[in-house]
Amino acid sequence: MSTASPQAYVLRGARPYGTDPVDVVLADGVIAALGAPGTVAVPDGAHEVDATGHVLLPGLVDLHTHLREPGREDAETVFSGTRAAAAGGFTAVHAMANTTPTQDTAGVVEQVYRLGQEAGWVDVHPVGAVTVGLGGEKLAELGAMADSAARVRVFSDDGKCVHDPVLMRRALEYVKAFDGVVAQHAQEPRLTEGAQMNEGVVSAQIGLTGWPAVAEESIIARDVLLAEHVGSRLHVCHLSTAGSVEIVRWAKGRGIDVTAEVTPHHLVLTDELARDYDPVFKVNPPLRTAADVEAVREGLADGTIDIVATDHAPHPVEDKDCEWSAAAFGMTGLETALSVVQQTMVDTGRMTWADVARVLSESPARIGRIDTAQGRPIALGEPANLTLVDPGATRAIDGRTQVTASANTPFGGMELPGRVVATFLRGRATVLDGAVADQMEGATR
Ligand SMILES: [Zn+2]
Repeated sequence: MSTASPQAYVLRGARPYGTDPVDVVLADGVIAALGAPGTVAVPDGAHEVDATGHVLLPGLVDLHTHLREPGREDAETVFSGTRAAAAGGFTAVHAMANTTPTQDTAGVVEQVYRLGQEAGWVDVHPVGAVTVGLGGEKLAELGAMADSAARVRVFSDDGKCVHDPVLMRRALEYVKAFDGVVAQHAQEPRLTEGAQMNEGVVSAQIGLTGWPAVAEESIIARDVLLAEHVGSRLHVCHLSTAGSVEIVRWAKGRGIDVTAEVTPHHLVLTDELARDYDPVFKVNPPLRTAADVEAVREGLADGTIDIVATDHAPHPVEDKDCEWSAAAFGMTGLETALSVVQQTMVDTGRMTWADVARVLSESPARIGRIDTAQGRPIALGEPANLTLVDPGATRAIDGRTQVTASANTPFGGMELPGRVVATFLRGRATVLDGAVADQMEGATR
């Protein structure tokens, strides 16, 4: 056991939320000092980080990550996925429940929680399944998962929709007891049988079965009314259509306790990309039209959409490098999310860096009820969960060189703005000088 005090850091000239430069000292896991450049006391031996021009944000929090372990370690493990998260500037992720076995018992959510702690890259908060085996027929042990060491507060059958309205009502009622939230994957199953992509002009021209916007919107409309009826909290996963934004806007105006997320890919990519039948663009919900992209950007800017969540969905090559109809749905996102938000929302003047902190850290932490530890203000004494970004850098994206174990990024071959220079989890550098650490101190695998 080491008796040396943990490494301290001083970030020179960092710009919190993109504002005026300060020096920030990280020591003993917290923000130990913060002030005008050259005015703060720096502990002996502190590691100096030249943060000139770099934006300092609270560590990013993802409400929607697929880590694939247990069950599909060929796609991703808790270790590889959380290391990718750190590389992308995250300090906490919520791990979706569609593992094998399903995260539908206290035992499985505790297993994933412990794997996250052992890996040490980010805080891992398992999402609990709403129904046993994601089967949509019987409620899972929500209370036992909430009471477990993993303290589950977010419940979702993501990948599947809780389409039975009676079960959805019961789940919404049940989670109130422990201030939980049901995160719905809104997809009416009968309207999307065999669906391969967005239903519209492109699907008609290239002959793939379409997935109508109404299949998403009808479930969201039903669920906001159910949430209102039982006085519970609802979260809408990855909404993707202009109509969905309108429904959430209406529900919020009515005082319904609903929050919503959009993925980075739905902020920029459209169904036109399906024309070459490259399955890297096959995703659930599907890429929509340019008008939908504009509507979700507007919804994110005006606060109708609360957060950006990655829906990081790694798949091994054999599940993506095949014919469109046989390929798996999903794309990776942890290492590109911040860049896409910068490109689509900040560089276009629609959002400030303080807004980015809200949608990628503060609000997801609050929705997941982890906001006593994550998504905190950049202020004296707060936990040193921080992300340092160079917004002037550009990166060429290549799925083969990313940290995630899977290569299915839809941004391969593109240049994106912004680069994560450093990530700190309770004062430990998981990323430093633009490089992700080789092995986390205390990691056991
Ligand atoms: Zn989903």
